[in-house]
Amino acid sequence: MSEYDYDLFVIGGGSGGVRAARIAAGYGAKVGIAEEYRYGGTCVIRGCVPKKLFVYASHFAEAFEDAIGFGWTTKQVEFDWPTLIANKDVEIDRLNKVYMKNLEAAGVELHHCRAELRDAHSVRLLGEERHVTAKYILIATGGVPNIDPALPGVEHVITSNEAFHLEKLPERIVVAGGGYIAVEFAGIFNGLGVETTLLYRGEKILRGFDEDVRDHLTAEMKKKGVDIICGEVFSKIEKKDDVLYGTLTNGEVLEADQIMFAIGRAPYTDGLGLEHAGVELKANGAIKVDEYSKTSVDHIYAVGDVTDRVALTPVAIREGHAFADTVFGGKDIKVDHSLIPTAVFSQPEIGTVGQTEAQAREQYGEVDIYKSTFRPMKHTLSGREERMLMKLIVEPKSDKVVGCQIMGPDAGEMTQLLGISLKMGATKADFDATMAVHPTASEELVTMRTKWSG
Ligand code: FAD
Ligand code: NDP
Repeated sequence: MSEYDYDLFVIGGGSGGVRAARIAAGYGAKVGIAEEYRYGGTCVIRGCVPKKLFVYASHFAEAFEDAIGFGWTTKQVEFDWPTLIANKDVEIDRLNKVYMKNLEAAGVELHHCRAELRDAHSVRLLGEERHVTAKYILIATGGVPNIDPALPGVEHVITSNEAFHLEKLPERIVVAGGGYIAVEFAGIFNGLGVETTLLYRGEKILRGFDEDVRDHLTAEMKKKGVDIICGEVFSKIEKKDDVLYGTLTNGEVLEADQIMFAIGRAPYTDGLGLEHAGVELKANGAIKVDEYSKTSVDHIYAVGDVTDRVALTPVAIREGHAFADTVFGGKDIKVDHSLIPTAVFSQPEIGTVGQTEAQAREQYGEVDIYKSTFRPMKHTLSGREERMLMKLIVEPKSDKVVGCQIMGPDAGEMTQLLGISLKMGATKADFDATMAVHPTASEELVTMRTKWSG
């Protein structure tokens, strides 16, 4: 009989926590897990999944327009926001239940409450008003959206959390931020017919992405009707008769029905009681971990967004899996955080893997660039003035493709496969030796032969 209630107690039933709990239980560990909101976590409940459903919804406006060039007559089309929300909620409820069922099927004990550390081996279950003990503890509490608490009128803004449950589709929205969530939601609202402004504090949206991608997305979003304001932030927000008035630092006032902040997310460690166990944090509140996701305390581990490594679902899942394999499966598995393919579901969509041109130049000095922008075939008949971007960044000495940037329809799907090629160390010669699939957009990736000379 163990001296603890559980071999493993997981705090947080999101991507990382659920994977770790299931895998550990599969190795025979007695596992408990607590979730204070809904099993599935950010990704399933108020992140990737409902976001992608919204992206699909917002694409239809253009699809109806594009259809005309192919001979279709589209009668007057209408969009009903409450129907989208209701259908999305049904799907999210389904997934939430699947997550709980899978945990139960693996033998994990589920607690529907908040959990906080009481000491190094015990966890207080709020709501159940008791504590449980565990040999190992895994913290997988994710992150929360940032707002600017000092901003006058900040109580009027929404974040992505609320955007999924708005009773009414706004007629005008300002989305503040210039990262993943801001550009994705600006595209969603714009596609759904909302007058959309993107307000970004820096010079150009998507800092950290390849410059061509940043320029191309800015141009394409503007073409689609998004008003992008750079170099500005709100100095105050006021509400009168249901209308929001957001004053910028230059004095200009933006009127909107909703203002959404998408200015980053903070690791969710507040009130978790980490100090009772001696778990060390980084300056931004993220939990410090080693390459095995172990914290400063030997038997306490942390995975996912709360560790502020790479805030993506597949990364949290892989970290949770590796932890369970290592601690309960007798394996020695560290997560390789290099060459992570990622997509931004902006409109047009972005897919990227490996280095940007600037990063590659910094590392290697000289790099070869292969770049193409072209009108996707579909738009020859639709008449839409949207261009696709493909870019390969090649390190000339080894001939290795060290970065790949795509923007256009299905960029994310292409990037998943490119991720395999780059992970295997594919060279430009390998790309060139690969036969094209015709007619596709992705054939451009294996047919670019001329180095970009600027
Ligand atoms: P989470 O999934 O956030 O899970 C943490 C869970 O812990 C939450 O359910 C929370 O309620 C619970 N919790 C917190 N504290 C406690 C406590 N004390 N007791 C009990 N429970 C607690 N990533 C992608 O890869 N692709 C995408 O397209 C994508 N889109 C996104 C869109 C949005 C709008 C957002 C916000 C994020 C998106 N992400 C996307 C990021 C992705 O959602 C996260 O990286 C991922 O969910 C992190 O998983 P996690 O397990 O670390 O945390
Ligand atoms: P990001 O870090 O991507 O972007 C934050 C944005 O907010 C940046 O443009 C940043 O500007 C700006 N910002 C930060 N602080 C302020 C401030 N005080 N005032 C004004 N602007 C500010 O965060 P997101 O919230 O968009 O998303 C969080 C993470 O979730 C992402 O980084 C990503 O890892 C994940 N995610 C992944 C998705 C996907 O895979 N498709 C989709 C959505 C989220 P600056 O650049 O100048 O710092």
